Amino acid sequence: KNGVVIIGAGHAGVQAAASLREEGFDGPVTLIGDENELPYHKPPLSKAFMKDADAKPQMLRAEAFYANGRIELMLGSSVERIDLSGRRLDLSGGGHIAFDRVILATGSRPRTLALPGSDLARVLSLRSVADARAIREASGSDDIVVLGGGFIGLEIAATLAAGGRRVTVVEAQDRLLARAAAPVIAAHVRSRFEASGVRLLTNTTIERLQGQNGHVTAAVTSSGERLPAGLVLIGVGVVPNSELAEAAGIAVANGIRVDPQMRSSQPEILAIGDNANFRHWLSGTDVRLESVQNATDQARLAARTITGHEDAYRSVPWFWSDIGDMKLQMVGLAAGSDRSVVVGEAAENRFSVFHYLGDRLICIESVNRPADHMLGRKMLAAGFSPNPATLASDDLKAQFA
Ligand code: FAD
Repeated sequence: KNGVVIIGAGHAGVQAAASLREEGFDGPVTLIGDENELPYHKPPLSKAFMKDADAKPQMLRAEAFYANGRIELMLGSSVERIDLSGRRLDLSGGGHIAFDRVILATGSRPRTLALPGSDLARVLSLRSVADARAIREASGSDDIVVLGGGFIGLEIAATLAAGGRRVTVVEAQDRLLARAAAPVIAAHVRSRFEASGVRLLTNTTIERLQGQNGHVTAAVTSSGERLPAGLVLIGVGVVPNSELAEAAGIAVANGIRVDPQMRSSQPEILAIGDNANFRHWLSGTDVRLESVQNATDQARLAARTITGHEDAYRSVPWFWSDIGDMKLQMVGLAAGSDRSVVVGEAAENRFSVFHYLGDRLICIESVNRPADHMLGRKMLAAGFSPNPATLASDDLKAQFA
């Protein structure tokens, strides 16, 4: 028995290894990761880790977990090829490893921009703890430009602005969080940023970066403005790490296509997490989700599939983001919503947006209203839609119970 080889030791890969043992899988489990760190939590990298120069990465599992679970952890090792017919993987450095099943948990990587000057020093993006350390070291500069008004860009912008830096966020779309949140949330985030002195340029792109002695000194906008910058952060989304699968002839379309059991077009190869594209039960559309919830729930399901079950992916999607003093929480999928109802007060920095498709509740986005979020998870899991006319009343919870 060659067992299961998991490629990628991030949120999805580590959970898959743990779940295989929890599901009673007894064969060999190998977890291969190309980073030289014990697997760690990514969300703090743009939050607590960025704030505190002495912060250490938070381990996903204690070091002893791997040995205790008979999980062979190979760090600093990258898989370069899947040999389907030979049932083996080629590793960087020339080694090989045989498999019965593979779980591709390779995640995603920051999208790069073909921008003149983007090879200058202190032009950085954030994915790994190594990236976060480099940003922390370069964040002493007074002026910082962030490209991209999505979650990661805004989280970093808020953190660095709170640390006294002059931060400008440059966003190509006409509003912040264009892919990720309702306009009313984006407008709220914008007004709080502006009140705290962060400059936000929407409908704006960066044409080129200027430097001196090899490091960046300024970013020039599409309207010709020169923004001084000792550090430029590029946070314009991610692309799935699906090349290994594609090279092996596995079906790929904005990520590795998987069925409701997480099997790729080659059934002994499964894919989970940021790199997996699947038809979502809630929206009926093909999606690729970038969240810890999705990575870990898909990992649990992949372990079930490998141990002989046929459960389908039915998790309610949820996500959070901490931007300054705003805890944003989303549950469900807002795409396709034809009506939304706002509950609570933006002026108090506490409100939720309930999204409906017809009479059906499909998503709740909250700012500092964690109770709505938690209730939303239960309501969406149960397929329960509260009457929109009564959302503001205090008995929302009672309605559901
Ligand atoms: P990853 O965690 O990226 O793990 C993939 C691993 O595979 C990486 O270590 C990669 O180096 C490795 N790998 C890739 N190719 C190979 C190969 N060929 N061989 C060996 N190893 C390979 N989500 C939330 O829900 N809430 C948040 O607040 C939040 N904040 C975030 C903040 C930051 C800064 C970042 C970067 C992400 C954040 N996310 C957040 C998203 C979340 O971290 C991801 O959705 C999650 O990490 C996806 O898990 P994954 O295992 O699919 O990918």
